[in-house]
Amino acid sequence: MSAAEPTALDLGLPVRAPLDGLPQAVRIHEVGARDGLQNESVALPVEVKAEFIARLAAAGLRTIEATSFVHPKWVPQLADAEQLFPLVSGLTGEYPGLRLPVLVPNERGLDRALAHRVQDIAVFASATESFAERNLGRGVEASLEMFAPVVHRATAAGVRVRGYLSMCFGDPWEGPVPTAQVVEVGCRLLELGCDELSLGDTIGTGTPGQVTELISAFSGRGVGPERLAVHFHDTYGQALANTLAALRCGVATVDSSAGGLGGCPYAKSATGNLATEDLVWMLHGLGISTGVDLPALAATSGWLADRLGRPSPSRAVRALTGGDAQR
Ligand code: MG
Repeated sequence: MSAAEPTALDLGLPVRAPLDGLPQAVRIHEVGARDGLQNESVALPVEVKAEFIARLAAAGLRTIEATSFVHPKWVPQLADAEQLFPLVSGLTGEYPGLRLPVLVPNERGLDRALAHRVQDIAVFASATESFAERNLGRGVEASLEMFAPVVHRATAAGVRVRGYLSMCFGDPWEGPVPTAQVVEVGCRLLELGCDELSLGDTIGTGTPGQVTELISAFSGRGVGPERLAVHFHDTYGQALANTLAALRCGVATVDSSAGGLGGCPYAKSATGNLATEDLVWMLHGLGISTGVDLPALAATSGWLADRLGRPSPSRAVRALTGGDAQR
């Protein structure tokens, strides 16, 4: 082969080497436009956000969390939710199976989501009291009470509800979080009527043994991996190892953020959502289908990094776009 001829690796195709006992397909829950952008210091114009979401859909992602109907005062980066959603909702007609969930903190947010005929919402709970107080302004029990009518009204309207659970492995104020405590709050969210529970390692301290233990503990309470998703942060470089541990337990929904956008503004040191490109490289290498066109996705993240004025933190994006200087 001549040096100039591109290899499969150059074209964004890892060597395929499956492992036994893993799901055949993974649904990627893309959070870059919401969890990512809400934690970026640069606020992008609404047209750029709409183009970003359209490009994510064109790259094959089929669950794209679009925005958040929170009070603009809390999350100014997503204050344009009312303008953005109409710009992207038509994509569901263009791409069969495309879901565009939005985050909804309370009944007021649900009213706004229902007015836009949103089909998927997410609520955001905490496994620990400290983070619930800081992020939601109320404790775990009070926040579950706040979510109850949101979940009930949404499901009655035929809207799917995802429950996010943050601080599942460690908490910056409380330290290690007991597995039983995480399972308890998670089961409460599912009992409210959430279809899916996303287990978040908000500060990124979790390791694969913890992941396996937590998912097993949910199984012990009758919650199988088909109802779970995982949301890892790469703060300590553990996100892909933790993902593989979750896949081995049968979890087949994984959250990630295109280009590794965002972190968490309320949790000190919580940087680095798992980058979707890094995730897809591993999944495709394992022979697990995602539907994602990796070079197209990496090009999208490179394009967005230019608009944010800083390089993408994703190593796969930097490798695939050849932009180690700029990206
Ligand atoms: Mg995150």
